[in-house]
Amino acid sequence: MSSSELKDLINKTKKQLLHLQALGVEGIQLTEAEVSVVARPTSKAPVETPASPVRSQSQNSINVDRLFGDFGESAAKLEPSTETFDDIHRDIGDCTRCSLHLGRTNICHTEGNRKARLMFVGEAPGADEDAQARPFVGRAGQLLTKIIEAIGLKREEVLIGNVNRCRPPGNRAPMPDEAAMCKPFLLREIAVARPEVIVVLGNTAMKNLLDTREGITRLRGIFQEYKGIKVMPTFHPAYLLRDPSKKRETWEDLKKVRDYLDSTAKKK
Ligand code: URA
Repeated sequence: MSSSELKDLINKTKKQLLHLQALGVEGIQLTEAEVSVVARPTSKAPVETPASPVRSQSQNSINVDRLFGDFGESAAKLEPSTETFDDIHRDIGDCTRCSLHLGRTNICHTEGNRKARLMFVGEAPGADEDAQARPFVGRAGQLLTKIIEAIGLKREEVLIGNVNRCRPPGNRAPMPDEAAMCKPFLLREIAVARPEVIVVLGNTAMKNLLDTREGITRLRGIFQEYKGIKVMPTFHPAYLLRDPSKKRETWEDLKKVRDYLDSTAKKK
């Protein structure tokens, strides 16, 4: 294998491992035979034993964070990203990674201010979003725009995205495998934009960003954290359309977001 082919293979492997890591995979089990292949030193350049081995002595599992060096995201903090949104959207391409592509008219990418201090994340596009290729433009989206304006911001000033970019049939919630396929792209956008606060709208967005089993009713209104970014769970605007009595709690949650952003802006 030529050195450029080897580099290409390593880069592709890194990309795949990062994707698996974003899906929550923490290690890869290898058989004894595979370990001997992976760990075999080449005759030209002997492999140095890393200070902290990528492979534990007790089990043949590879620590993805340390494989090929420290390229992995820290569990605690968001690593700087060198990508742009355009890179990520190019990577998504005319996506067929999950079956949701079969029913879509358009892919709905994250939109808004890519340097926003505040980001909103919903579940997946509905019929209006699918038709217009823009997130949150239907009735729920109009309510979201009012919520944003109620805290003194314009819609164009924030970033708005979804866990999934293609409309699920009948507006059902995305299945876990569909969400897992699409979420890494959202996480890459978050790493590029680095908002100070992310408001997760409803259960699907909250569970996907926070990897929690808790429900929205329990966590709403309480700041959570995603890699050093404040996350505020609140009700989804579509739920507020069905039960307007929940608008009061949503307003309380959004006031906390506004107050936090005001307090950090003053420090700057
Ligand atoms: N509901 C969502 O979760 N996202 C949209 O973009 C529209 C409706």
